[in-house]
Amino acid sequence: MANAFENAMKQLAEVAKRAPGVVGTEIVEYLHHPVRIVDVEFPVVMDNGSRTFFHGYRVQWNNLRGPFKGGLRFHPQVDMDEVKALAFWMTIKCAVVNIPYGGGKGGVAVDPKRLSAGELERLTRAFTRSIADVIGSDKDIPAPDVNTNAQIMDWMVDEYGKITGKIDYALITGKSLGNGGSEGRGTATGQGAWYVFEAYQKKLGLGETCKVAVQGFGNAGQVIASLFYQHGHQVVAVSDSHGGIYQENGLDIPAVITHKTSTKTLAGFPGAKEMSQEDLLTCACDVIAPSALENQFTKEIAPRVQAKVILELANGPTTPEADEIFAQKNVTVIPDVLANSGGVATSFFEWQQNKSNEHWTEQQVFEKLKGLMDAASQDVISIADQHHLTQRQAAFVLALKRIGEKI
Ligand code: GLU
Repeated sequence: MANAFENAMKQLAEVAKRAPGVVGTEIVEYLHHPVRIVDVEFPVVMDNGSRTFFHGYRVQWNNLRGPFKGGLRFHPQVDMDEVKALAFWMTIKCAVVNIPYGGGKGGVAVDPKRLSAGELERLTRAFTRSIADVIGSDKDIPAPDVNTNAQIMDWMVDEYGKITGKIDYALITGKSLGNGGSEGRGTATGQGAWYVFEAYQKKLGLGETCKVAVQGFGNAGQVIASLFYQHGHQVVAVSDSHGGIYQENGLDIPAVITHKTSTKTLAGFPGAKEMSQEDLLTCACDVIAPSALENQFTKEIAPRVQAKVILELANGPTTPEADEIFAQKNVTVIPDVLANSGGVATSFFEWQQNKSNEHWTEQQVFEKLKGLMDAASQDVISIADQHHLTQRQAAFVLALKRIGEKI
């Protein structure tokens, strides 16, 4: 399996090679090195009274532009290289969307679906204690990521408050609404990706009714599928970690969400054909939105992809080899560091509200979000046009310039 961190460093090297004179060598060197890596093991008392040790990580990649920022992932695949890659991508992402943060990421190697609610809470609290020394509302601000949610963020704020003797809501973003969370944060990644898609729609000559496939039906995937559906596009395929479903004339996405919520699976959705993940990635459609994990588009799959546009809601779904194949095939990849940056942008709004003790309406949040996403998309598009770069290379150039100004 491709290594996410090696891929991330290849992306950086590629940009340095493709845009010499546009990005300085000094910032490229800077971004090869993390500021701090925290690697912890901690015990959790399980429901049967036994004690299990878990492995957790927090990588603080770079803070030239502001405090480290990035989510926490609970997944069996979490390891140091994955977290390093994700922390590096957060650094690039926060600069692309122009918010005053650096990049960090963390996680615990665990399958949370195998834990009871009580075990999950105890694990979250124990992990919070393990990393408490290095986080803080002006130092490093965690958030949700794969398999983590508002409830988990609420427990973290509470546990950290017990250590410091004071609740500081700005410590974490992605909290519940009753606990310092922001309107719109729950759907922000999908919403932001939608604004980016709209910004690219004309440029890419995409019509009003595209055929769309969405890989991953978690938070980001469900929201982007719903937005495509609401705007009259045909979502022909969606998948979750077990497999996908396909309907040539477009799936009824609200009905699919109801089906998935009640049966916990996509399988058996009336009238749809079942398909594998691989079939979904190579199905006949105009746009694919990978919204799950890294390394989905590999050099084996990329040549068979039929879509003309890839809207990356996941982090790192395309390997550098696949990127090259897509560039040759004229497939436009709207990169993760732009397309999914609506999540962290709205985290920044949540943090601002916590710092100033305000509560904004969803409309206020989405207006601001649209402003940031539009500006970032236009910045990336114009750099790509000016320097004949792919959208990913252009996004990196933009980020490197912005971070480089802070050296
Ligand atoms: N986990 C999200 C991401 O990968 C959000 C991070 C945040 O809000 O800090 O962008």
